[in-house]
Amino acid sequence: MSDTLTHARSEQLFAEARRRIPGGVNSPVRAFSSVGGAPVFYERAAGSRVTDVDGNEYVDFIGSWGPMILGHRPAAVLDAVRAQLDRGLSFGAPCEAEVRLAERVCELVPCAEKARMVSSGTEAVMSAVRLARGFTGRSLIIKFEGCYHGHSDALLASAGSGVAAFGIPGTPGVTPGAARDTLVAPYNDLVAVERLIDAHEGQVACVIVEPVAGNMGVVAPDPGFLEGLRATCAREGALLIFDEVISGFRAALGGAQERYGIVPDLCALGKIVGGGFPVGCLAGRAEVMDALSPAGPVYQAGTLSGNPVAMVAGLATLEELARPGVYDELERLGARLEAGLARAIERSGFPATVNRVGSLATLFFSPDPVRDYAGASACDAAAFARYFAGMLERGFLIAPSRFEALFLSLAHTDDEIDDFAAAAAEVLAAL
Ligand SMILES: *Cc1c(COP(=O)(O)O)cnc(C)c1O
Repeated sequence: MSDTLTHARSEQLFAEARRRIPGGVNSPVRAFSSVGGAPVFYERAAGSRVTDVDGNEYVDFIGSWGPMILGHRPAAVLDAVRAQLDRGLSFGAPCEAEVRLAERVCELVPCAEKARMVSSGTEAVMSAVRLARGFTGRSLIIKFEGCYHGHSDALLASAGSGVAAFGIPGTPGVTPGAARDTLVAPYNDLVAVERLIDAHEGQVACVIVEPVAGNMGVVAPDPGFLEGLRATCAREGALLIFDEVISGFRAALGGAQERYGIVPDLCALGKIVGGGFPVGCLAGRAEVMDALSPAGPVYQAGTLSGNPVAMVAGLATLEELARPGVYDELERLGARLEAGLARAIERSGFPATVNRVGSLATLFFSPDPVRDYAGASACDAAAFARYFAGMLERGFLIAPSRFEALFLSLAHTDDEIDDFAAAAAEVLAAL
């Protein structure tokens, strides 16, 4: 924890939280376990800034782990939510906003002919995998080391994000049966995927991948990787699922599938699609989606699915993102951050490297390029912890784990990005 900022109130709240909430947090990635200290408790946020309960202000590079791509509390979203508050909070019955959001998703996302709203990214992925199994009549799934797909049983094997940060090889509570049906390949390794598929011919229901990996730090797909997965799945009769919970509406308006021009059978969306409310969405080919209950036999449901407040927030967010120039601006901000960090590395002489895709970037404490989980996990954890503390002290909030992205928003200014890079140069030089 920082020497110059006071965090007395955060520390007090964390002590109280630990008495009633396991580990004091409602999601493990929020804990500062891998960097040390008590997590910062936020009080309010606006634009690119957050203020903690001790009155410290930070430039925020977490953005709620992705949803706040417009910045915090964007006026258009607040207006839409306020108007909905006067009409109702939850109906548990169809409403117009969910039709409009499904239509919008299908207009914007290349693979989406139909969409189903759920309440989290975890649920979207879990439902997509069940749908793939139900549709193909096969059991096995292939995932990639270091990709995170939420916390459902079948997908926790070799997962990124918090699972990686806490160094958990698997997790108690997942039965051998659930784990046995999940096959794991290294990211960017097409040969390994083909080997798995050949060894289990006719049994693989789907290959699920983050088309831009964001949960082992940011790792771009190598040229040919997504194309290869597309071709292999088509040949084998397995469905290709893109987990675009981070990359959806971020890598491009239509997600990574638009950016790289590869169309999966199904995709999972989350984070941005809810505009700051708990929303996930699975979308894809109509023929597959129509296997979902009640159109088809694969059961899937949710009391709060299509919640009207969340739907209008998501719709307003997508409207803002569809304005001309938005993704050029996000790309420009990302490039500025990448260049600043590259200069910081060069000036400090510290062995590190930057990966970036659009408005997502990660500073890896490794001299070598990082293109898979083995590379990401070879990075210096102690150096990351000192970097994290140094940045916090200088007023910059980044995720408290070396396996995460820096999330840029439209609210970040050039000055904030330059200041961030200058602070990083100072911190790296002192490592
Ligand atoms: C965040 C995330 C999830 C899980 O979403 P939740 O809303 O946290 O359940 C799934 N996949 C990816 C790629 C994610 O980044």
